[in-house]
Amino acid sequence: MRNLVTGGAGFVGSHLVDKLMRKGEEVICLDNFLSGSRLNLRQWDGHPSFKIIEHDITHEIEIEACRIWHLACPASPLHYQKEPIRTLKTNFIGTLNMLELARKSNAKFLLASTSEIYGNPKEHPQDENYNGSVNPFSERSCYQEGKRIAESLCFDYQRVHKVSICIARIFNSYGPKMLVDDGRVISNFICNALNNKPLCVNGDGSQTRSFCYINDLIEGLTKLMDSNYNKPINLGCDQELKILEIAKLISTKVSSKTKIVYKELPQDEPMRRKPDINLAKKVLQWEPRTDIKKGLDYTIEYFKNTL
Ligand code: UDP
Repeated sequence: MRNLVTGGAGFVGSHLVDKLMRKGEEVICLDNFLSGSRLNLRQWDGHPSFKIIEHDITHEIEIEACRIWHLACPASPLHYQKEPIRTLKTNFIGTLNMLELARKSNAKFLLASTSEIYGNPKEHPQDENYNGSVNPFSERSCYQEGKRIAESLCFDYQRVHKVSICIARIFNSYGPKMLVDDGRVISNFICNALNNKPLCVNGDGSQTRSFCYINDLIEGLTKLMDSNYNKPINLGCDQELKILEIAKLISTKVSSKTKIVYKELPQDEPMRRKPDINLAKKVLQWEPRTDIKKGLDYTIEYFKNTL
């Protein structure tokens, strides 16, 4: 089966490519290497079933595939806010171009959407029926509104062109192959702790996130693609932690000497985030299995070898 993976050199994309290649499938990967790295895929260089094409999905391209896994877009606030208009174009024009490919090849289409579409949520935990609370002019909105329009496009392609779609709303995830300069909290904390630098907690650290280990997320994505479910579904871990708790956990694991310092909370920061994953449990028989302590051990080990 031929798979097209957009953003295949990124953190989530490269783990997905690994899984598909190990299953013996054919994979074509599109990436502009804005927040992805060729190193993440070097083990497949020269493999007859693997091809990587440097391409920005905001430009049209002709490729035939049976399955399109549409993951391309920087996901770290640091990266997606650097070029916000580009982030919007990737999610709108890029998704449109990829849906056109799905229509022409009659391919099944999976969109990597995000918990960010819930904005700074007024409901807790967030289930798929919650329509979110997004400030359309905040610095986060290029990603939040971008992913919301990407979801709209998927539904309209389903309604108008009968494209078979599925939408994963991915919550915070972490694990090996995150970039050292990714900018998200777990990689920042681990890299700083390993480099004997202080961990910078934004605000007082009472804001929460729920972190899913990458292997669990990939299992969820593949189960979703294999299913017939065609509405948005949350994929994430429902163990909610304060950012300060994460800082303490990582500093205890890496070095007890690590200092914690506090910085100003960024604008429009979501204060609580936890997925309701009952739908994924029921429809996909999926739930995360990796305990945060184990997942952090694997990730710390990876960064020890990388730095
Ligand atoms: N955060 C932090 N220090 C960092 C990076 C992030 O305190 O070095 C906080 C950030 O303000 C947010 C949480 O950690 O409250 C998760 O941030 P991340 O960028 O990982 O993801 P997102 O905000 O998109 O969920």
